[in-house]
Amino acid sequence: MQTDGLWKAVLGEIELSVSKGSFLTWFKNTDLLRYDQDLTIVGVQNVFIQQQLEKKFKDLINETLTKKGYPSKKIEFKIITSKSTKMIYDEPVILEDVAVFANDEEAEVEKVNLNGLSHSYRQGLNEKYTLDNFVVGAGNELAFAACQSIAQNPGTKYNPLFIYGGVGIGKTHLIQAVGNALAVNNPSIRILYISTEQFVQEFVDALRFRKTADFASYYRSCDVLIVDDIQFIAGKEKIQEEFFHTFNALHQANKQIIISSDKPPKDIPTIEERLRSRFTWGMSIDMQTPDFETRCAIIKTKALNHSVDLPDEVVEYLSNNIPTNIRELEGALNHLLAFCEMRAVDPNIGIATSLLGSSKVRPKHLSAKQIIDKVSKYYQVPVEDILGPKRDKDIVVPRQVAMYILRSELHLSFPKIAKELSRKDHTTAIHSIDKIEKQFHLDSDIREAISAIKERLYA
Ligand code: ADP
Ligand code: MG
Repeated sequence: MQTDGLWKAVLGEIELSVSKGSFLTWFKNTDLLRYDQDLTIVGVQNVFIQQQLEKKFKDLINETLTKKGYPSKKIEFKIITSKSTKMIYDEPVILEDVAVFANDEEAEVEKVNLNGLSHSYRQGLNEKYTLDNFVVGAGNELAFAACQSIAQNPGTKYNPLFIYGGVGIGKTHLIQAVGNALAVNNPSIRILYISTEQFVQEFVDALRFRKTADFASYYRSCDVLIVDDIQFIAGKEKIQEEFFHTFNALHQANKQIIISSDKPPKDIPTIEERLRSRFTWGMSIDMQTPDFETRCAIIKTKALNHSVDLPDEVVEYLSNNIPTNIRELEGALNHLLAFCEMRAVDPNIGIATSLLGSSKVRPKHLSAKQIIDKVSKYYQVPVEDILGPKRDKDIVVPRQVAMYILRSELHLSFPKIAKELSRKDHTTAIHSIDKIEKQFHLDSDIREAISAIKERLYA
């Protein structure tokens, strides 16, 4: 257990410093088998990964361990047969996906030994992502509701479902969770989850091994296709063409398609128009960074999964200081838990502050004034007008948004919010915040404004 937490923290850090492809290929299925100051042993899945980690990433692992407060004189990599987080297979997996999907040039050597495409449906699904362990709150509830609905009735209402939003806010978790929920309800359903990078890589392999027909029929014969990070398809004409035909075949057959992206279809550069328009055929949802309360709930839940009941003070501290990226938030939490576990102490605010203070993330102390200022800049309405008596719509909306953000980010009381906005009556604040909360679900301009303002606040 101890090593588990430490390794998670180390991986969290490494994930931020290597490319996504490298991380998935080399680190994803590793385990910490033993830590001590003289010898640390990392478990890996095959000799190929063992050699690569030894050759290319040993220093990085060592540095990261040291940074987390766990230096070790020696690091070894041992091959373990299977990992505890098993995936569900409905037929044997012939290829080692790690080697096939590898992005690095060195992987070429290994790939030529493999003769084409051969793998099972459900290969990409990771059981750890479920709808049940996804914390729902402002920012992600629309996306969650759509996913829940698809988990019950795939291929009907929202097809395709296109979810977009910033890094680390739970897109992959949600779309994987749909796949897992469907798999539970219907064991024979053919579900494919694939990252766009893998999709591209497989396509390139298929071309090389002259297996494009296999590739096409494999993807066109699933019941549910989940494609993560579609923005990586930008500029790749051949794969866009291939994806276009896959999309059409599935859509016509009422098969569910779920797509995630870090930006809306209209902002993905160099993408074929016909593909872009298809992305918006069903439902597009802009997922937002979870607000303060949701972030707190996520931390609490994750800590409880480790059987730790974190003091509120610590929860709020983490949530305040890592406002936009849940992956980083989780990384910081794992770091804290590992630190406390190894030293057999209870987490407290002092430890949290010193750990976080020493990492890249700096505490932010936002003031009400800064918030009002950013709202004023975003809407290009002078602060005096926001604080003044005017009741024109283009001033009232920024005023209400300012109140909403004061509440969601600083948790000020209603009277205090009213005071900051120079309103006499605190019921104004109650009504305004209520109004924005309701509009948040209906009005994408409001959602975009709030997320842009928050991003600038924490930038
Ligand atoms: P994205 O794909 O948007 O970059 P991920 O889905 O990979 O983000 O999420 C990053 C991490 O944060 C994952 O470990 C995920 O489980 C966790 N996470 C994000 N949002 C939530 C949530 N609402 N409830 C629980 N965990 C979450
Ligand atoms: Mg993702």
